Parts: sequence; C-alpha cells; structure tokens
Amino acid sequence: MGEMIAYNCRCGYKKTVNIGKGLKSFDTTNYACACLSCRELIRVEINDDADKNDSTCPVCGGRLIVYSDTDNILCPKCGTRNKAEPAGRWD
Ligand SMILES: [Zn+2]
Ligand SMILES: [Zn+2]
Repeated sequence: MGEMIAYNCRCGYKKTVNIGKGLKSFDTTNYACACLSCRELIRVEINDDADKNDSTCPVCGGRLIVYSDTDNILCPKCGTRNKAEPAGRWD
C-alpha cells in the first residue's frame, strides 16, 4: 500500500499527494515531486530501475525535484521548506 501525504505551506499552498506503491505499482514507485516551472507539487510514477534524477514533469517537460522523504519539501509557490504530514493510505 502507498501512503498519502498532506502538504500545507503557510503561504496557503496545500496539496495531498499519493506516494509509494499501490496495488498496481509492480515496477514503479510514486514520488512527491516539485516542478518549479509549473510551481506545483505533483505525484510522479517512476520506474524503479530509472534514475530518479532524470525525471521530467509530465505537464511541461521541465526538470523535477524528486523527494524520497517527506521531511523537507520545498514549497513550489513560495520556496519555504515544510514537512509533509501523513494523511492516510491508498491501494
Ligand atoms: Zn511542470
Ligand atoms: Zn508556500
């Protein structure tokens, strides 16, 4: 099962992202990623044998910051670092 994280920044930006592996994630893992061009925190599914650092935004094709842990996520709107809180589970 994957994990849901809730990201809340004091600038008002809020996002809930599903990370980890769901039932259908055989050889992929979902990561919370920040696109600084779209200025959004998004979920991106990355192949387990791919280099995470080469991941690009599915919307704009720009480079992503891929977060492997949720303690220190940069707000894509204002640049503050925040910790995402656990918000449940998903399949
Ligand atoms: Zn983008
Ligand atoms: Zn912010």
